[in-house]
Amino acid sequence: LAAHYAALKDLPAVTKDGVRIELTANIGTHMDVDNALTYGAEGVGLFRSEFVFMGSTTIPSEEDQFKAYRAAVEKCGGHICVIRTMDIGGDKPLPYLNIDPEENPFLGYRALRISLDRHDLFLPQIKAILRAGLYGKAAMMVPMVISVSEIQRVLKLVEQAKVELAHEGKEYSDDVQIGIMVETPAAAVVSPLLSQYVDFFSIGTNDLIQYTLAVDRGNAQIANLYNPFNPAVLRLIQRTIQSARERGIWAGMCGEMASDPYAAVILLGMGITELSMSAPSIPRVKEMIRSVTSTQAKELLADVMKMEHGVEIRAYLHKMLEGSD
Ligand code: PEP
Ligand code: MG
Repeated sequence: LAAHYAALKDLPAVTKDGVRIELTANIGTHMDVDNALTYGAEGVGLFRSEFVFMGSTTIPSEEDQFKAYRAAVEKCGGHICVIRTMDIGGDKPLPYLNIDPEENPFLGYRALRISLDRHDLFLPQIKAILRAGLYGKAAMMVPMVISVSEIQRVLKLVEQAKVELAHEGKEYSDDVQIGIMVETPAAAVVSPLLSQYVDFFSIGTNDLIQYTLAVDRGNAQIANLYNPFNPAVLRLIQRTIQSARERGIWAGMCGEMASDPYAAVILLGMGITELSMSAPSIPRVKEMIRSVTSTQAKELLADVMKMEHGVEIRAYLHKMLEGSD
């Protein structure tokens, strides 16, 4: 099996009728990039930068962050490297930020909410990413967006970071794409509005499922309710991809759902163009994509969107696609 997957490494993820999907990797440190490339990753779709913060006992400096991001961007060669700004809070606390304990950390002071509140944290991170952009194809992605005003504030801060960098005589890239994670139901619902302000969407299903279904992503007792094929979840995902396509920006996915070969077919049918996952999942997903046509994917999607139960949808896809991967 390993040899079989190795043979896939340099083949593109393309359907039988020529629709190309980019398969990228989720990483936590620049040291993960080399390993990801051995699985055939075409760059990085999610660099969880909070690990740069968690690996430090104080707020990492712009310079330290620049080094970490630059290393990842360089290792990606000409491929994209999507750096997510820090997603601290929720399940990832950080001692030196001194955040008060919260009753509902997943609904609390986390991620972008901290960044927009703490420019002393956010501006150095933005600057580090813009500077790393000189060494390849970097993109910046913000987590936990719920509204247009947030992204407007982010874009203002990006402009401020550029002005400051210019004043400081530091070089940076003007070509860094700015995107958002769509991981709250609010972002998916207002995706036609958000799409006006960004270069891409990346759907974060780990949180999107949790918030849509009100099911804690880590609670084993209700894990049966945590179903990516739940019709409510599928509708939000479809809406998000549709909004991106109508605006001419790209849509990808970086939640765990992207590593499910059956889900990949449905997402392909919806028009997604990038799937980011833990690197070892890439060969299986690639093999599935190479075994179907986009017409087939659209037909399966149409069937699935008529169904009323997540469990039924999963079983149907299994029946129709079994043996394809
Ligand atoms: C997600 O929510 O789907 C995601 C990719 O981000 P994280 O798992 O880091 O919350
Ligand atoms: Mg998330």
